[in-house]
Amino acid sequence: MDTLTRRRSIPVTIGNVIVGGDAPIAVQSMTNTDTADVAGTTAQVAALARAGSELVRITVDRAEAAAAVPHIRERLDILGIEAPLIGDFHYNGHTLLAEHPACAEALAKYRINPGNVGFKEKRDRQFAEIVEIALKHGKAIRIGVNWGSLDQDLLTRLMDANARLPEPKDAREVMHEAIVQSALISAERATELGLEPDRIVLSAKVSAVQDLIAVYSMLGARSDLALHLGLTEAGMGSKGIVASSAALSVLLQQGIGDTIRISLTPEPNGDRTLEVQVAQELLQSMGFRSFVPLVAACPGCGRTTSTTFQELARDIQDFIRAEMPEWKRRYPGVETLSVAVMGCIVNGPGESKQADIGISLPGTGEAPAAPVFIDGKKVTTLRGPGAAADFKQMVLDYIERRFGQGAIGRSAATE
Ligand code: SF4
Repeated sequence: MDTLTRRRSIPVTIGNVIVGGDAPIAVQSMTNTDTADVAGTTAQVAALARAGSELVRITVDRAEAAAAVPHIRERLDILGIEAPLIGDFHYNGHTLLAEHPACAEALAKYRINPGNVGFKEKRDRQFAEIVEIALKHGKAIRIGVNWGSLDQDLLTRLMDANARLPEPKDAREVMHEAIVQSALISAERATELGLEPDRIVLSAKVSAVQDLIAVYSMLGARSDLALHLGLTEAGMGSKGIVASSAALSVLLQQGIGDTIRISLTPEPNGDRTLEVQVAQELLQSMGFRSFVPLVAACPGCGRTTSTTFQELARDIQDFIRAEMPEWKRRYPGVETLSVAVMGCIVNGPGESKQADIGISLPGTGEAPAAPVFIDGKKVTTLRGPGAAADFKQMVLDYIERRFGQGAIGRSAATE
């Protein structure tokens, strides 16, 4: 597959979002509230959606949770939050969906795990019941295999067959095949039951980077169904971010993946929206989508002995994130803006000229002056303790000039 050529997948409509086909790679997230807590779950879904999550998954694990789902949807609608809700079902999804039709209707997609649909002879029946409910309500299904709950019968069968080969494969390879087959066999069963391929999304999550790349490469080559990417149990903080980004970027670069989730373990009472931010930054830094203006900042070195430049870089980054919901409304296209905050004269002017607006702060021993560049040209030099505030104001003025209503009027007048 050519680099940066998207694999052609069958588009799936999930509420107001299209996943797959030519649609942009969608960002998803998942709540960690008790779904039975309507207020708490509504608030977290709203926060995730406002942070940019285009689809939000919620756990539906018991009757109280299923009963809460339509109320959560209702409250979100009142708040103007359109992000479709996806129900995450394990073991009892068939019962919950059958007994709570309002839940089945309020959800835009049902995520089921073939390893947890039911056991032995019940599995096929319970799987069929969920598919029938999806058909009745016109919903999509994600067949989400997870290696932690892989169909053990299938794995045992493949392991036994492998052991009989004259040259058996590595056990890991057999496990990859079992994960892929579990997803494909379930998808085939769903289509036999009448669910069209444009209502099926596949995922096959594992927790090791190389395994994830191997599994999705196989899945991408053997199916044209839309694929949801994510490294499961990625972990906390930088470990989770690096592992997820490493795995997903390799796959996305190969054109594999129609929607992504970064599964981060939050710090106690940490901000759940971090997973949305990381997903957006991954897609933006790879050049697939633009979500927020990018701030380029140098790492700093022995030439930056004061913290001025780190503070300004952080200040600008936080300022942009905080203002984005409002800017998005007022300044269409603002997400393509690039800002540079650089630490000294070595690379500062050069990098600042490449950005739409950039500042090159004085390094150690340099004159206390900070040249500002706009559209590649030096426009002024800021000095003194008010330089940071002045630069922020210049960023705002630039945005107003280039993306504000006046800008639209100006460009229309020149057409
Ligand atoms: S631009 Fe200057 S301060 Fe920043 S890393 Fe390069 S040499 Fe160091």
